[in-house]
Amino acid sequence: MTSLDSATAGSATDHTAAVGSGALFARARDVIPGGVNSPVRAFKAVGGTPRFMARGAGPYLYDVDGNEYVDLVCSWGPLILGHAHPEVVAAVSSAVAAGTSFGTPSLPELELAEEIVGRTPVDQVRLVSSGTEATMSAIRLARGHTGRELVVKFAGCYHGHVDALLIAAGSHRATFGLPGSPGVPAAATASTMVLPYNDVAALEETFAAYGEQIACVITEAAPGNMGAVRPVEGFNATLARLCADYGALFVSDEVMTGFRVGRSGYWGLEGAVEGWVPDLMTFGKVMGGGFPAAAFGGRADVMAQLAPGGSVYQAGTLSGNPVATTAGLATLRLADAEVYDRLDTAAAVISGLVGDALTTAGVPHVMQSAGNLFSAFFVETDEITAVRNFDDASRQAVHRFSAFFHAMLDQGVYLPPSAFEAWFVSAAHDDRAIDKIAAALPRAAAAAGSAAPDDEGAR
Ligand SMILES: *Cc1c(COP(=O)(O)O)cnc(C)c1O
Repeated sequence: MTSLDSATAGSATDHTAAVGSGALFARARDVIPGGVNSPVRAFKAVGGTPRFMARGAGPYLYDVDGNEYVDLVCSWGPLILGHAHPEVVAAVSSAVAAGTSFGTPSLPELELAEEIVGRTPVDQVRLVSSGTEATMSAIRLARGHTGRELVVKFAGCYHGHVDALLIAAGSHRATFGLPGSPGVPAAATASTMVLPYNDVAALEETFAAYGEQIACVITEAAPGNMGAVRPVEGFNATLARLCADYGALFVSDEVMTGFRVGRSGYWGLEGAVEGWVPDLMTFGKVMGGGFPAAAFGGRADVMAQLAPGGSVYQAGTLSGNPVATTAGLATLRLADAEVYDRLDTAAAVISGLVGDALTTAGVPHVMQSAGNLFSAFFVETDEITAVRNFDDASRQAVHRFSAFFHAMLDQGVYLPPSAFEAWFVSAAHDDRAIDKIAAALPRAAAAAGSAAPDDEGAR
């Protein structure tokens, strides 16, 4: 019996596929809080044991027990070419051999900056090492540039674990936030306002009341961190207009969408067509090609305020690291129109298959997409046909997602281990990978349909 056979032989709630993973997870919990280095990896939202992955190739992940999974997480977005793309591996290998870090300017960081500036409306970029650093720095720059303190964000949008942005979402319009985590001082969020996403009226009221104090509005270009939610028509355009009218900066966070949903990110699908441009943008994930690299960029006059030319301080020992920027550059140079076609097609096909399987099994759901980001929302009734904001997303039957997730996992498909995440494909997701997903779906849809709210992992 292979370990995959023994996995699928277990009962639906006996997640025993992870013999090696189970032992490693126990060891990890001794020395790493919760056994993981980023919380969602721990499977808390779905129950069961996280898999320790040993290897990735194309659209597949292989765990330490030898199980193969079609990967619909793709490292939470970066891997648009799939795992271990040979040309990226070759570029990175020669970069490593040439020295791993110089602490000086180098050519790969310059070429990556030129590639980003060439694809997006930003005039200049500063490279950093994580999306969190990018948004944190963009907000500091917006405050420095405007001389104002208020920051507006939207409930359900995630911008990394920046103190000022880790804020509890209120259920009313225009709440001043309370810290969303112990350890975040009230002072850190006192100047942050949280609005419901996709609510143009709340935005207009907020600007009418506070517009002259607002340094910036930060938003995901299209939210992927509450599942995939599309901005309603005119939402981003209104944001851009209000910011311009009141002298606030419009910060579009494309850490997830940038270079994934298209050559120029979500801006390329919307702003380029509608004629608006963010003042600042943040990037990460894809632009690092699986390595820690991120960036923030924007208008030349705003970026000029940064040290060393300007007085807004920002720095990083490994910023623009030659290995990371080589990986990102190799990835972006390979990401041509054909790659984006393949991503779009794979996303549409897989999303269609998931929707069909859930419909056949009679499971209430909404399939949503924003570019080639997509996700299934397990809603409570068939009457719900759209998820527009975090309140909507929060009304999911998460126990159905947990059952669905584990049935897919047991059959070799790796979904994000949370009902509040977008699903990611790569250009390597070929017919074999898609067939494997299709074959797993009927049983997973049935498991979702028969799940009871108090099943293991339903939380
Ligand atoms: C992932 C993400 C971040 C944070 O990036 P890290 O590299 O994890 O710090 C910020 N914003 C958005 C929209 C993201 O999806």
